[in-house]
Amino acid sequence: MDKTVHTAVIGAGLTGLTTAFYLEKENIDFVVLEKEDRIGGVIRTRSENGFIVEEGPNTGVLKEPEVAMLFDDLDGTCTCETASEKVKKRYILKNGKWQPLPMNPIQAVKTPLFTGKDKFRLLGEPFQRKGDDPLETLDKMVKRRMGESFLDFAVDPFILGVYAGDPAALVTKYALPKLYNLEQNYGSFIGGAFKKKFEKKDHIEKKATKKVFSVRGGLSNLTENLYRSAGKSRFLLKVEDITIIPGDDFFVIKGYIEDEKITIRARNVITTTGSYTLPGMLPFVPPGVMERIEKMHHAPVIQIGIGFDKWQGRKLDGFGGLIPYREKRDILGVLFISSLLSGRAPSGGALLSVFAGGTRRPGIFEKSDSEIESLVEKEFCSLMEVKEFNPSMFRIFRYRCAIPQYGRESVQKLEALEMLQKRYKGLIIAGNLRDGIGMADRIKQGRQLAEKINLQPRHKIEK
Ligand SMILES: Cc1cc2nc3c(=O)[nH]c(=O)nc-3n(C[C@H](O)[C@H](O)[C@H](O)COP(=O)(O)OP(=O)(O)OC[C@H]3O[C@@H](n4cnc5c(N)ncnc54)[C@H](O)[C@@H]3O)c2cc1C
Repeated sequence: MDKTVHTAVIGAGLTGLTTAFYLEKENIDFVVLEKEDRIGGVIRTRSENGFIVEEGPNTGVLKEPEVAMLFDDLDGTCTCETASEKVKKRYILKNGKWQPLPMNPIQAVKTPLFTGKDKFRLLGEPFQRKGDDPLETLDKMVKRRMGESFLDFAVDPFILGVYAGDPAALVTKYALPKLYNLEQNYGSFIGGAFKKKFEKKDHIEKKATKKVFSVRGGLSNLTENLYRSAGKSRFLLKVEDITIIPGDDFFVIKGYIEDEKITIRARNVITTTGSYTLPGMLPFVPPGVMERIEKMHHAPVIQIGIGFDKWQGRKLDGFGGLIPYREKRDILGVLFISSLLSGRAPSGGALLSVFAGGTRRPGIFEKSDSEIESLVEKEFCSLMEVKEFNPSMFRIFRYRCAIPQYGRESVQKLEALEMLQKRYKGLIIAGNLRDGIGMADRIKQGRQLAEKINLQPRHKIEK
């Protein structure tokens, strides 16, 4: 195969699929090259014995307007489902007991999660001086503004839930830019959040909310609809050993599909694959520059879907529970999926998702499935008040490089990326190595990538 296109996208996960969907809308000639024999990347929904289980992400947050806009643009072909308002409660484990995270000032005063000293100190948070170190790690920032107990029992479990990471290794400016900007722009987390709430928003900004979302029937319905709408014939699957070489007018992309050599010439190439895939793919990048991109750590995550035909454990009256690192447990948290989303378990039953691993407990990744099963059984029975562990479905999904960690090396990484993109016009190195790790960030980036391509002059391409 030998063909010439305007734009080539590497990777058909959520980022590549969203980019492709909007490139198609803009009438741009493109092709997507994917290494696997399926699209979706880490998003994969399974239906099994009446349970709808996600292998990768379960839910996202509608925090960027681009998510709601994507569902609008998909025109009803798949339905965004927001989590039930009845199960807003989030639990945090402290001294082996679940405590609800406070949702209002009275609960905040009463909660045993934080010390009296830190609660009192919080009253002074709006009056504190703002930080001046752009590379300050999250743990330092939170201790400085809120105190250690807020770090241990609010921020640490939140970071385990989102990054499977360590607040001491994440730089706030890159890992939680919205939080960083609250301090920089408003001088306070509390004051900033309050002021932002009352700021005037246009109709696009209003589409961003804090609501938790998934897709009716599972997240694969979203990826499959993006695939279909972007045009399945534009996708080349099972493409191995991709290399990209810059030329005078075109990038030359070479690879193999089942031993058949393929050559694609493209004016633009967008990579949406992890940083660890880039050295082989971009052989023209000097090793010293590539090292700065590749240096990034990734958290290993094991996700375990557990289904019960008849639930006899504790009441599933919330979103789920997160477990601070200080509690020294073998799992990071449990999500009460069937309470959040409809149709995920047979009536009377329950679907839960347990996750384990992370940057501070990578060892679990090396354990066998049966070792993981017995470890999960022990933790699950005590935490979820289950007397007899007899799930009708138990599935383990492993991701060695699940979540990239935005640490101190982010500065060198971003500089290297900018330098390469300036030097090789038309090369865009994207994906979750930059601009956020959640599904909302991926959708936002995908849309922006297509917009960027659309702004370029359209040369007539001789095929
Ligand atoms: C276990 C887990 C749980 C998560 N939970 C949540 C959550 O609860 N909420 C949330 O918002 N986000 C969550 N995330 C993050 C979210 O799933 C990801 O940000 C998003 O799905 C990533 O999409 P992507 O397209 O950037 O990357 P990927 O999904 O990784 O897609 C990259 C694609 O590139 C392909 N590829 C790789 N190498 C090559 C190559 N050499 N040549 C060609 N193709 C290649 C891959 O096969 C893949 O299809 C979770 C992620 C994981 C792993």
